[in-house]
Amino acid sequence: MHKGKKLYEGKAKIIYAGPERGTAIQHFKDDATAYNNLKKSTIEGKGVLNNRISEHILNSLNQIGIKTHLIKRINMREQLIRLVEIIPLEFIVRNIATGSLTKRLGITDGTVLDLPLIEYSFKNDELGDPLVALEHITAFKWASIEEIKKINTICLRVNDFMLGMFRGVGIKLVDFKLEFGRIEINGKKEILLADEISPDTCRLWDVVSEKKLDKDRFRKDLGNLIQAYQEVAHRLKILPEEANISEVKFNKPTAVRLKKK
Ligand code: UDP
Repeated sequence: MHKGKKLYEGKAKIIYAGPERGTAIQHFKDDATAYNNLKKSTIEGKGVLNNRISEHILNSLNQIGIKTHLIKRINMREQLIRLVEIIPLEFIVRNIATGSLTKRLGITDGTVLDLPLIEYSFKNDELGDPLVALEHITAFKWASIEEIKKINTICLRVNDFMLGMFRGVGIKLVDFKLEFGRIEINGKKEILLADEISPDTCRLWDVVSEKKLDKDRFRKDLGNLIQAYQEVAHRLKILPEEANISEVKFNKPTAVRLKKK
C-alpha cells in the first residue's frame, strides 16, 4: 500500500498520507512517554500490541454502530484510517477515581464513582493538556455545544460497551481517554471516534488482584509492561493463549472497499 508523506508525528504514533484522498496511515511506535514527556523510553513490541488491541476495540465499536476512523489494519504496526480534522480535546471517561483526578481533588484512590465522569482537557503538549470547562470549549470554539453533546453520548456508549467487554475477561475498566475528529461524508458533517484505544490510553485492573495491566506499569516503574499488554490481548482472544509477542502470527487483514466520495 502506498504510504505518502509524514503528516504528523506524536509521542506514540506517526500519521502518513494514505493511498487515497481522505485516508491516512497510522503507524504505532514503540515509544512510551509519561508526565508530559519528562519520562521517555522505547518498549519493544508495544506498538504491535497497541495496533492489534486498538483494531479489535474499534472494530467492535463499529459493529455496534459507533463510527470510527478505522478502515482496516494493514500490517503489524499500521492501520489505514480516514483522515479527520481532530477536535483539540481529550475526553477522559472515569469509572473509578485514580491518577490526576485523585491528586487534583484529594479524592481517595480507588473510589468507585456512582456514575461515569467525563472530563475535558485541551490537547496542548506545551501546556501539559490542561483540564478545561465546557465554557472554555465554546468560548475558544474548539467544539460546539451540539458536538460536545453528541460526543458525550458516544463516550458513554463506548464506556458501557468496554466495561462489559473487559469485565467479561476479568478486567476492571478504571478510566480511559478518547479523541474525536470531524469529517464530511457525502456532504454531511460527521463526528468519528479517532486515535486509539489501548492499554496506553486506558487504565485496566485485574478484577481479583487489582494488578495494573496498562501504561501505569511504565509511569510507576512497575516493569513487565509488554507482559501486561500481552495479557490483555490474550484475554480478549486477540492473541492465542500461548503466543508471545516475538512469535505472534498475524491474520491477514480483510479487504475493505473505500466508499467513493
Ligand atoms: N490519558 C491518555 N493520554 C493523556 C492523558 C490521559 O491516554 O494525555 C488516559 C490515561 O491513560 C488514563 C486516563 O486517560 O487512562 C486518565 O488519565 P489521568 O487524567 O488520570 O492522567 P495521569 O494520571 O496519567 O496524568
